[in-house]
Formats: sequence, structure tokens, C-alpha cells
Amino acid sequence: MDAMRYDVLIVGAGPAGLAAAIRLKQLEPTVTLCVLEKGSEVGAHNISGCVLEPRALEELLPDWREREPPLGTPVTKDHFWFLTQKHRFSLPVPPQMQNNGNAIISLSQFCRWLGHQAEALGVEIYPGFAATDPLFDDQGTLCGVKTGDKGIGRDGNPTDVYQPGIAIYGKQILVAEGCRGSLAENLIHHFQLRQTSNPQTYGLGLKEVWHVNSKLYKAGTVIHSMGWPLGTQTYGGAFVYHLADHQIAVGLIVGLDYQNPYLSPFEEFQRFKTHPAIRPLFEGGKRLSYGARALNEGGWQSVPHLTFPGGALIGCSAGFLNVPKMKGTHLAMKSGMLAAEGAVEALQGRGNDYEDRLRRSWVARELYQVRNIRPGFRWGILPGMANAALETYVFRGHAPWTLQNPTDHQRLQKASDSQVIAYPKPDGVITFDRLSSVFLCNLHHPENQPNHLKLGTPELAISHNQALFDSPEQQL
Ligand SMILES: Cc1cc2nc3c(=O)[nH]c(=O)nc-3n(C[C@H](O)[C@H](O)[C@H](O)COP(=O)(O)OP(=O)(O)OC[C@H]3O[C@@H](n4cnc5c(N)ncnc54)[C@H](O)[C@@H]3O)c2cc1C
Repeated sequence: MDAMRYDVLIVGAGPAGLAAAIRLKQLEPTVTLCVLEKGSEVGAHNISGCVLEPRALEELLPDWREREPPLGTPVTKDHFWFLTQKHRFSLPVPPQMQNNGNAIISLSQFCRWLGHQAEALGVEIYPGFAATDPLFDDQGTLCGVKTGDKGIGRDGNPTDVYQPGIAIYGKQILVAEGCRGSLAENLIHHFQLRQTSNPQTYGLGLKEVWHVNSKLYKAGTVIHSMGWPLGTQTYGGAFVYHLADHQIAVGLIVGLDYQNPYLSPFEEFQRFKTHPAIRPLFEGGKRLSYGARALNEGGWQSVPHLTFPGGALIGCSAGFLNVPKMKGTHLAMKSGMLAAEGAVEALQGRGNDYEDRLRRSWVARELYQVRNIRPGFRWGILPGMANAALETYVFRGHAPWTLQNPTDHQRLQKASDSQVIAYPKPDGVITFDRLSSVFLCNLHHPENQPNHLKLGTPELAISHNQALFDSPEQQL
């Protein structure tokens, strides 16, 4: 196997990995540094339409304004709605959801720009290369990764264009794969990093970007909603961000601790767009893109140990997402910056103190203060909102308790105890089917590429998932 060697290797060119790369070069310009990105280019795997809190950017590149970042549109107005099937009720916007000073950006464009800042400092970025396997030295320290073989046919055999993966070694390896990356999960398991934390819990986010002609479009408007179409027991919420140039990013996030195995996050999202307060925005418009991504919802309680022999977890690989704020980009960047400082210490033989740095940072304070909000929604939406108000306005993040996170699947009811949900057929105008949606995903695979998602124990899919829950995975 061919091999390349660096001082630091970063897996993933999202906000966390790129901020880490920039900070490393700022601290130690002679360090050799490589970033692997599995997308065909930097930003290819980030879905656009995101509200950025620029706090970490300000700390990373204090002169960012002169560097002309693609910061889209400043947020001009925040709304927080509670929806019933026919009506909307405006609620006071909770402090976490206030976006004064934030901007609605395209995350893909922002990552591309961060990539250029990193390259200007001498960082080598290799798009199109996925890290597939960890490599350990004789002491059990993570010392590198293997990249995936290319040109394997559907039958698993090499084709004419076969290229074997290569080994890339680093003295420090920062894992920045985003939410539930396969290498990160492998390392969390291998180094038992979750021994003192709660399990991670997840949400599924579905998002579309539209070009709209509606008179209701107003650049800079941010709408968050709770309630319909999700019932009173399912955590989730929708967002509508009015970007620049008559574009709107609309999405729905569904907590994966939902109870009814017949619930389909995709169909719920399509239904959301038909609400009388939402539909008029999209009438006469054109859907430009679609994407779906998992996000961490476990918060502070679910953050695992961050360092292990040879490296560290950063960004959403470690679970840094502020659920009530619905933001993780600023936390991902700051954790990357702190991990870079820890990696420099480690390269100089002083031990990696990233975990201490992070636990003393504003990332920890921010996540700690909202730690009880998301778990309270397991009691239902209205009790969850009451608990959120209590945590925010009365305890102000300092309640003398911490609610724990069970795993998501523990709340799933048996199919025999659940009602089948009949979703309306897509109209092809405002609502769409899965196939036409996936077509707009910006994902490209060779026709005969083998499936990279493999079931650990295939029998369980039938004997357990299907027998008890009627295979909820088919509803996603
Ligand atoms: C629907 C939705 C809406 C959101 N809205 C907002 C918002 O409005 N504001 C906000 O601040 N945050 C938002 N977030 C969260 C935000 O996107 C994340 O917190 C942030 O992107 C995390 O950055 P990251 O660098 O840790 O991971 P990511 O941005 O996920 O980047 C990880 C990168 O690593 C690459 N990668 C993964 N595995 C490998 C591998 N094995 N080898 C090589 N490369 C790999 C991926 O292709 C990707 O480019 C939203 C998330 C979702 C899902």
C-alpha cells in the first residue's frame, strides 16, 4: 500500500476540520498538514441554507470581513410559530433562537471559502478521498487511516479502473467527519470513549432550497416552528430561511426518538409545506435542491471523551450541536480550533490538553446551559415547551439537575400498538416523492458501485425489525 506521512491529518473538510487546519497553521506554520474530504470537492456534502453565528469565525480570522466571505444575508427578523393543522400562533422568540448579528449563508459556499483560507496557509486538501479504516501502531496508538479502494464493481471485485486505497499517517489525527461518522464511531468503540457519557441521540434533518416568486419573500427572515405536522409526542421543528436572491431554504428536523414506527420524516416534511401559512411562499416557485442529514441531539450529556492515543474528535463527530439554537457550525469551528491548540502541544511532547481546553471554553458553557431542554421533550411537546421555558427563564441554565438521554430506539412502539399513517400523494408542485428528491441531492455514484451501507447482523432486520416494528427503516 502506498503511504503518505504528515504531522497532522484531519479527516473531513467541514467547518470543524477546516477551522482546525487554519488554527494549526496559524500556530505552527511549519507543521505538515493534510485534510481528507470524501466529497468530490470541499462543500459538496454540506447542505446549503444555514444560519451562522460568527463568534468562532471572529476568533479564528479577526479580519474575516476583509477576506470577503460568502456570508449571504444578515438576519433581519426572527419568528417562532406554533402550528396546528390550519392555524399558526406567533410565540415570543426564545433567547436561543434570536439571530441578531447572525447571517443566513450557504454552508457549502462557506466551507469552500474556509478551504481557500486553509490552502493559502499551505494546508493540503484532498477531496474525493474517504478515510475508511483506522491504522494503529504497536502501542495501540492511532497513527493513520486507510483511504477507500476505488473502482470496485458491484460484485466486490476490482474493475478496469481499480485503484487501491493508500495509507496516510499523522502524528496527530483529528476526526471531523460530522454526525455519526463511521471512523469516529469505530474509534469511540475501540477506545471506549463513551464510558462516562450518555448515549448519543439523533435527529433527521430534511431540507430543500427553492427559488420563489412569492410576495411574502423577504431576504433575512428566519422562521422556526413547532407543532404540526408532528403530533404531540414527536419532537421536531421546521425552519424557513429567506436567503438572498429570492431563494428560501425550508426544512424539518424530526427527533429519532419518535414512537410510531410508521412515521416517515420525509413525508412529514412534504406535509409541512402544505400548511396554509407556508404553502403561499412556494406557490409559483421552483425547487432547486434537496438533502437529508442526521444531526446530534444528545447535547452536553452525550459528549464522549474527546482525546485518545494519537488524536481527537472534533465538531459533530464529538456531538457539539446546540439543539434549542439549531446550530452547530460555530461549535464545530471552535472545537476544531481548540483541538488544533491541543495537537500543537502534543507535537511538542507536552501531551494533548484539548479536552481540558474544551471543557473550560464557551462551547462547554453554551451546551451546559441548554442541557435539559431537549430531554424534556420526551414528556411530550407541551410539557417539553413548559420545561424549556422553566430552564430558560427561571433556572437560566443552572437547574440543580441534569436530565439523562436514553437511546432513541428505546421509545419506539411495537407496530402492533401503532397506527399506520396514510400520507397524501405528492402533487409534484409543492410536495414531491423520494426519487425526484434524491435526484436533486448533488450525489454522484458510478452505476455499479457496491453499496457501502452494510447491515451488521442482517438476520435482525427480519427477525426483530420487521417482526416487531414492521421495518421502520423503510419509512425514512
Ligand atoms: C438540516 C440541518 C440544518 C442545520 N442548520 C444549521 C444552522 O442553521 N446553523 C448551524 O450553525 N448549524 C446547522 N446545522 C448543523 C451544522 O450543519 C453542523 O453542526 C456542522 O456542519 C458540523 O460541522 P462538522 O465539520 O463537524 O461536520 P460536517 O459539516 O458534517 O462536515 C464533515 C465533513 O467530513 C466529510 N467526511 C465525513 N466522513 C469522512 C471520511 N470518512 N473521510 C473523509 N471525509 C469525510 C464530509 O463529507 C463532510 O464534508 C444543521 C444541520 C442539519 C442536518
